[in-house]
Amino acid sequence: MITSKGYATQHSFTKLKPVSFEREEPGAHDVEIAVLFCGVCHSDIHQARNEWSNTVYPCVPGHEVVGRVTRTGASASKHAVGDIVGVGCMIDSCRQCEPCKNGEENYCECPNSWLATYNGPMVPAKQAPGQQNVYGRENTYGGYSDVLVVNEDFVLKIPAGLKPEVAAPILCAGVTTYSPMKHWGVKAGDKVGILGFGGLGHMAAKIAKAMGAEVTVFTRTKEKLYEAGKLGVQGVLETDKDALETLASSFDLILSTVPEKHDVNPFVALLKRDATLCVVGALEPLAGVNNQEVAFHRRSVAGSLIGSIAETQEILDFCAKHNIGPEIELIAIQDINDAYKKVIDGEVRFRYVIDMASLQKDTDFASF
Ligand SMILES: [Zn+2]
Ligand SMILES: [Zn+2]
Repeated sequence: MITSKGYATQHSFTKLKPVSFEREEPGAHDVEIAVLFCGVCHSDIHQARNEWSNTVYPCVPGHEVVGRVTRTGASASKHAVGDIVGVGCMIDSCRQCEPCKNGEENYCECPNSWLATYNGPMVPAKQAPGQQNVYGRENTYGGYSDVLVVNEDFVLKIPAGLKPEVAAPILCAGVTTYSPMKHWGVKAGDKVGILGFGGLGHMAAKIAKAMGAEVTVFTRTKEKLYEAGKLGVQGVLETDKDALETLASSFDLILSTVPEKHDVNPFVALLKRDATLCVVGALEPLAGVNNQEVAFHRRSVAGSLIGSIAETQEILDFCAKHNIGPEIELIAIQDINDAYKKVIDGEVRFRYVIDMASLQKDTDFASF
């Protein structure tokens, strides 16, 4: 076993604290990664606090991980010691179902769905048919730690043109917004709306703009109109009814990145005929949709879940090619509880990334 250090919480109501725990040694197809940076995603907070009622404790969050390969298994050939690599939301899938065979592991249809980087299988054994666990692991520990061991097929290559700390949020926020833009065929000249202008939203705006789309972000925060201007996209206040009226029936695709329950109806009205509003931020029941607005213009309201491994590599390469990346603020791991509060309060501009070297400052690690 490998002794790993990191930050974990044991309950929904406690803060993250330094911990020491054991990980499996790399198997034949695994790579061992020394973690350099890890992004702080809003879902880390949902998960640490059991807000989706599926958290397995102890919880070591972190699924926007960039590090250096330190060891490879005997049969692992895709990555070499010293490579800078990334790990996103998934570390394995069943590999046998139709989505897996089609390279859409993020929609794995096996009884436990995909194996998440932290918190174990997406569908835990107790909720799976026959209470089975095809992965044999009830919990997994994420990137708020010094080392990670991952199957080589789920490890991404970080292009030389991307700084490792900037690449980290692309592994979740980037691919989560890129995947639906690719699926719904965003092209140059399209009008793309982005609802919510935080970690996911600002990444979505940058990617859509680099694709040549005309981008509008909708925000509740006046100060963020200025941030939109800095990115070279149009900013509109969600509460500005006049502005929304002038934008009626004009968008080819709208992505909602709002990470909680919200009303999509005012934005459905902004879609062109046959266009789609896709929700990527919230994983809970939304307020009711007025189907009159949907049916009268053959519009769609849809959802999309992260992205595949192939799409994750594509968006990393796309960001390097177009010289774009998230706006990040580096923090020490000791600041993580304060950072969670600021993410919830909307004070982060736009993504916190943990500099994992800071972990060396801690001396007292509880074990679990
Ligand atoms: Zn995430
Ligand atoms: Zn599968």
